Amino acid sequence: MSDCIFCKIVKGDIPSTNVFRDEQVTAFRDINPAAPTHILIVPNKHIDSVNVLISDDEPLMGHLFIVAKQLAAREKIDEDGYRLIVNTGVYAGQTVHHIHLHLLGGAPMKHPMG
Ligand code: AMP
Repeated sequence: MSDCIFCKIVKGDIPSTNVFRDEQVTAFRDINPAAPTHILIVPNKHIDSVNVLISDDEPLMGHLFIVAKQLAAREKIDEDGYRLIVNTGVYAGQTVHHIHLHLLGGAPMKHPMG
């Protein structure tokens, strides 16, 4: 998607603070962090949202979570705990229409959500 900001980050066309990259996903720090650690993990291929996932995407979505787990350990937030969020659609406040997993941690969070 030529006008997708996360596709541009994946391609390196706009700057980002990348923390991980492999053939399937890219992870970078959120430009407006909501927690001391706030990383976005995105598939390298464009997918609008959870709403358009197909069964072929299942390994890719699983990989997002494995990378999230590894990054949580690397950031040393795994023992204290962290939150993984995938906003989908207007009510959830999805602003970037390229599916992404938020990894948030580093301080206690309020509960419940919503
Ligand atoms: P969401 O509301 O779930 O769509 O989250 C989109 C996230 O992308 C927000 O937390 C933004 O702060 C973040 N974001 C938008 N543009 C950039 C960018 N250029 N680099 C890093 N994070 C960004």
